[in-house]
Amino acid sequence: MFNYKIVLVGDFGVGKTSLIKRYVDNSFSDEYKSSIGVAISKKLLSTLVNDKTYDSTMMIWDIEGKTDFKPILSHYLSGAKGFIIVADLTRENTINSIKEHIELCEKTASNLPICIAFNKSDLVDDEIELESFRNLSSNVIALFKTSAKDDNGVSELFEILNNEIIKRL
Ligand code: GDP
Repeated sequence: MFNYKIVLVGDFGVGKTSLIKRYVDNSFSDEYKSSIGVAISKKLLSTLVNDKTYDSTMMIWDIEGKTDFKPILSHYLSGAKGFIIVADLTRENTINSIKEHIELCEKTASNLPICIAFNKSDLVDDEIELESFRNLSSNVIALFKTSAKDDNGVSELFEILNNEIIKRL
């Protein structure tokens, strides 16, 4: 059994905790949390690569509260095998901070896979062009529109990152 850590990174309120809850418990809540700390959720996974099955435990780190406390944040990122950067489609400033979050992740570890989730897709109608965000870094392996509320794109998001991490073992 291979245990590895991933971290969700993004501005406050973009839906990091909600995405994890949806993926791990298949639930959603409208509650807003405000504590500062770290919550670790576990997901058992079985991954097929080249006809071989790999069992693993994904340890999903969620940094609660005000993530703009940078010195602490980089400490939480260390030891991760991959990152999910989350933005909120209803708040442009959270999309503008994606670049900064990528740089922070890459400072901790220079060539780990990164997925970007554009969350709260249930709240927006207009199509946003995602492909351009791929140019932000060669480590970006996938871009997803997600809704933790409607369960859209969530398992795909975590699973593509898992597959990439297992492939790189
Ligand atoms: P975090 O600070 O990034 O962990 O964000 P939370 O997961 O606590 O979510 C912040 C708020 O956005 C909460 O009120 C959630 O219910 C709400 N939220 C999260 N994801 C979605 C989503 O996909 N759609 C909608 N409509 N609301 C969401």
